[in-house]
Amino acid sequence: DVDSAVSKPKETSDVAAPALGGKERATFVSLARNQDLWELVGSIREIEDRFNSKFHYDWVFLNDGEFSEEFKKVTSSFCSGKTKYGQISKEQWSFPPWIDTDKAAQVREEMREKKIIYGDSISYRHMCRYESGFFFRHPLLEEYDYYWRVEPGIKIYCDVDYDVFKFMRENKKSYGWTISLPEYKETIPTLWKTTKEFIKENPQYIAQDNLMEWISEDGGSSYNGCHFWSNFEVGSLDFWRSEAYLKYFEYLDKAGGFFYERWGDAPVHSIAVALFMPKDQVHFFNDIGYYHVPFHNCPIDETIRKEKKCMCAPTDDFTFRPYSCTSKFYNLMGLKKPDGWEKYAS
Ligand code: GDP
Ligand code: MN
Repeated sequence: DVDSAVSKPKETSDVAAPALGGKERATFVSLARNQDLWELVGSIREIEDRFNSKFHYDWVFLNDGEFSEEFKKVTSSFCSGKTKYGQISKEQWSFPPWIDTDKAAQVREEMREKKIIYGDSISYRHMCRYESGFFFRHPLLEEYDYYWRVEPGIKIYCDVDYDVFKFMRENKKSYGWTISLPEYKETIPTLWKTTKEFIKENPQYIAQDNLMEWISEDGGSSYNGCHFWSNFEVGSLDFWRSEAYLKYFEYLDKAGGFFYERWGDAPVHSIAVALFMPKDQVHFFNDIGYYHVPFHNCPIDETIRKEKKCMCAPTDDFTFRPYSCTSKFYNLMGLKKPDGWEKYAS
């Protein structure tokens, strides 16, 4: 499935970074099509300017189709680390044999009429299923422990002047995020019911100090929809490769909701993080200014804004808005909110 791995010639700048004590086994990972090239280049440039020009981490690009020579040439010219290009195997990007494709087509038609976002899309469903269950098993990711997911069209608002992957390892963090919000209920009617069945059959996977309270207001009876927005993730690949998560994904996949509903990878990842990971391994990157349409994580803390040269309006910050789930995260984790947060809470 690996169509090529382009290594850039070593430049003298490659020598500078390891003064910080060596690189982590980590990579950026972007799922994209050839048509996403220029929006993705924008994202790469943001990441390079604010972070990776100092650290030179690798970048893995994945595609269900074949990357064009132009895509490879242009992206590799913007990345300061090694770039690798992989094609996704057909069986990981098609209807599994147990799925009734007529039933799936009928659902798409209903969702189209109800104008549910991406409700009529087949490719979006393959994307969500792939990001839920397969990206971390791609052969090109095998050599890495941590990843940072990057999508086309994002912005990074502040300097990231430390090695986030090293931060993850040294602080025993396994999942890092920037924006949280509730999922559209119409896309996941039976996700929670299916999750509860799984938990009932496999109670051993539930972490001691978990974040169940963050995703449920009634002790697990129902799901409040809160999820970490997965277009940004800095995480441990080993968590997704764990028995708990692999079994969970398989269970969900067999239930069919990626196709009979429109389960997103964000709620799937988030439920797993909330239930199978001790909560002290979950990290909110309050200092990584980030934008993916239509939400901003723009640090309101004056010290951070000044030190990290944040180029965003604090009035745009989504963190403490009523629709965000991040305030609840602060409360559950006993984190101190920045001074004046109430001003940005309505
Ligand atoms: P949104 O952020 O939920 O609106 O969805 P996006 O359109 O940004 O898609 C999420 C990610 O999957 C992005 O990294 C896209 O480049 C990628 N993606 C979406 N659909 C496809 C597809 O059909 N093929 C490939 N190769 N990548 C896709
Ligand atoms: Mn996107």
